[in-house]
Amino acid sequence: MRLSRYYLPLLKETPADAQIASHRLMLRAGMIRQEGAGIYAWLPLGFRVLKKIEQIVREEQNRAGAVEMLMPTIQSAELWRESGRYDAYGKEMLRIRDRADREMLFGPTNEEMITEIFRAGIRSYKDLPKLLYHIQWKFRDEIRPRFGVMRGREFLMKDTYSFDIDEASARQSYNKMFVAYLRTFARLGLKSIPMRADTGPIGGDLSHEFIVLAETGESAVFCDRRLVDLETPAKDIDFDGDLQPVIDQFTSHYAATDEMHDAAGFEENVDEQNRVSARGIEVGHIFFFGDKYSTPMKAVVAGPDGGEIPVQMGSYGVGVSRLMGAIIEAYHDDDGCKWPVPVAPYHVGLVNLRAGDEACDAACEKIYAALEAKGVEVLYDDTGARPGEKFARMDLIGLPYQIVIGPRGLEKGEAEVKSRVDGVRETAPVGEVSARVANAVLEALQYA
Ligand code: ATP
Ligand code: MG
Repeated sequence: MRLSRYYLPLLKETPADAQIASHRLMLRAGMIRQEGAGIYAWLPLGFRVLKKIEQIVREEQNRAGAVEMLMPTIQSAELWRESGRYDAYGKEMLRIRDRADREMLFGPTNEEMITEIFRAGIRSYKDLPKLLYHIQWKFRDEIRPRFGVMRGREFLMKDTYSFDIDEASARQSYNKMFVAYLRTFARLGLKSIPMRADTGPIGGDLSHEFIVLAETGESAVFCDRRLVDLETPAKDIDFDGDLQPVIDQFTSHYAATDEMHDAAGFEENVDEQNRVSARGIEVGHIFFFGDKYSTPMKAVVAGPDGGEIPVQMGSYGVGVSRLMGAIIEAYHDDDGCKWPVPVAPYHVGLVNLRAGDEACDAACEKIYAALEAKGVEVLYDDTGARPGEKFARMDLIGLPYQIVIGPRGLEKGEAEVKSRVDGVRETAPVGEVSARVANAVLEALQYA
């Protein structure tokens, strides 16, 4: 992409109401624009990152055996009356009336709708288990939308729903999502820690929030340091095999958010040097809730003995748009973002220090074409801006690699390469620079 054709509206001033780094940087780097309280437009640069996060979430869902679909954003109140949640949900639900005065709502979540879809198509225990998911915009009229996309009112969520014949089978579905989440967040460059969460009247131990440690996180969290060092399950893990040992490994150490924290138990079970009291961002939540919806909504299947059995369900959410904030919180400095390669809006920023100069233009065009031919994504700064402005802009948007071409370097046959993550600069022969950077990018795109 040529910057001269792009839309990258940077802000000079730091927006006064943006309290945390990710919110400030997303506004300053022209990634989002606020259109209302907790409502954002995704500008071209931010939209690319959002799509990459979404794609990684999708790949790991598919790997775990979940099947993608898409449910609408608008739902009918009638459906929510069946579960009893239409009245119970309260003011967080955005309620709408259509022209025929029918009560509708903008979906804050989809348990009712997926239960309705399930009961229309599945009749026998032989068709179970099923894992269905979609990635769709939600609306929740949060009392205090804040921190940009971290707590929006309109936000993008991946939500999966599991359907099983009994609790033992439901646990296997739960475990699949547990492992898929560990892998998803690791691929996004984040260390996530599963923490016991409240199961309310459902009871049991099948509810975990996945928390990324960050000073600016909204939740106070407490955990055992040894959890941070556990290895992420490998790509070739067998999702149809026994996943319980992995789950046991991740749940055998103390980890709880504020709501579930037991100070005495923490001190008793965790050695002082391993106690972590920190803040964290909830990026995912998995929850088994049995027949909470299937019984009132009559989502039943014929069991092996012919009788009708309400299906056992769970739901599994990932905050796709919130993740973008969480990634920036983990990867930035005072100058701007420092994108990990897998989610970077472009892999390389190509800076032409003297656009219009024949030699500089020719060298840049050649590098641009060579990188694109290898599948490397390039944002080419072909504008007439001053060098200082170009450097600051590239640092702010934080592409992993910068290639700088100027008349002085060219005379010596040299280009400069800067890695944004570690700040290392080196010179390379102009003829070799595209191959060198392409290798580094392609290597970083191989994941474990
Ligand atoms: P929270 O406690 O942060 O309000 P929640 O318990 O309401 O979250 P879930 O209903 O489990 O969240 O939704 C699944 C995921 O969606 C959450 O783990 C979070 O990552 C994301 N999410 C929830 N609310 C928001 C929001 N207002 N803005 C952005 N992402 C959100
Ligand atoms: Mg909430």
